[in-house]
Amino acid sequence: MPTAQRFHSFRDWCVEHFGHPLHRVALDAGSQCPNRDGTKGFGGCSYCDVDGSGTGALRAGAQLDEQLRLGLERIARRKHAGRAIAYFQSYSNTYVARERLEEVLAVTAPYLGREVAAISVATRPDTLPDEALEVLARWNTRVPVWIELGLESADDRVLLALNRLHTLAEFEDATQRVRRAGLLCVAHAILGLPGDGREGALRTARALARAPVEGVKAHQLMVLERTRLAHEWRAGEVRTLELDEYVQWLADFVELLRPDQVLHRLHGDAPDGLIAPTWSRINPGVREALEAELERRGSRQGARCEV
Ligand code: SF4
Repeated sequence: MPTAQRFHSFRDWCVEHFGHPLHRVALDAGSQCPNRDGTKGFGGCSYCDVDGSGTGALRAGAQLDEQLRLGLERIARRKHAGRAIAYFQSYSNTYVARERLEEVLAVTAPYLGREVAAISVATRPDTLPDEALEVLARWNTRVPVWIELGLESADDRVLLALNRLHTLAEFEDATQRVRRAGLLCVAHAILGLPGDGREGALRTARALARAPVEGVKAHQLMVLERTRLAHEWRAGEVRTLELDEYVQWLADFVELLRPDQVLHRLHGDAPDGLIAPTWSRINPGVREALEAELERRGSRQGARCEV
């Protein structure tokens, strides 16, 4: 982390490793999820809509190669054009046969090492078989590949109530196997989950600091239409965090992470169908607010890390 900064940002890490920032191209490969197809459950996690926390591009008719091509063209038109991360975002991208995973990754081949500088594959801890890791390890010899694993909360009771249907132990096992495969691991956490509270956010940060996880994505709980959480929110059974409150919780969370862990995200952007919190719709300045809060505390990332 640059000494002048109070947390290790993804942008800085990209500049350190690639010489410039990277832009994500979110891709929908049409994968599935064991929480939706009945293998583990139906209906999905309580906060997830039918697009599987992704773009829904495939259902809208955009084939995978076209999604990537259009995304790369958008980046090329930017004032500060740079290279891209091909980000397989929607659903559980390793919950497919080996052949399908190869086919999906192959869309990046024409651009590898040029427009596409890295590949990021989002999945669940319990849908990451060793054969998928073998495939990804081979691609990792061409460009850096990282696995994005959803943990969300380190409390199994909270995970069960959300209908996530995996455990902290499964997450820890998956991170070890990702490490052994030589891949980077980025973990997701949601702050403000029902039943988790501020203590839960701290528990999650401690679990991530203990794990072989190089990157962390933190999000505020968001309520989307077409989710179970929307019903609970409308019934007054759950609430979302105000912006100031979120920044406080995030500062606590960041203080407990390891100083080397890269913060790939500090908050979630408003997807279609957002109901709450409405501050997610604007650029809320979380980065600046976090920096200011850590400065006010005389603190920084890792200041209260226990490992
Ligand atoms: S595991 Fe991911 S894709 Fe599946 S229901 Fe939960 S959030 Fe959605």
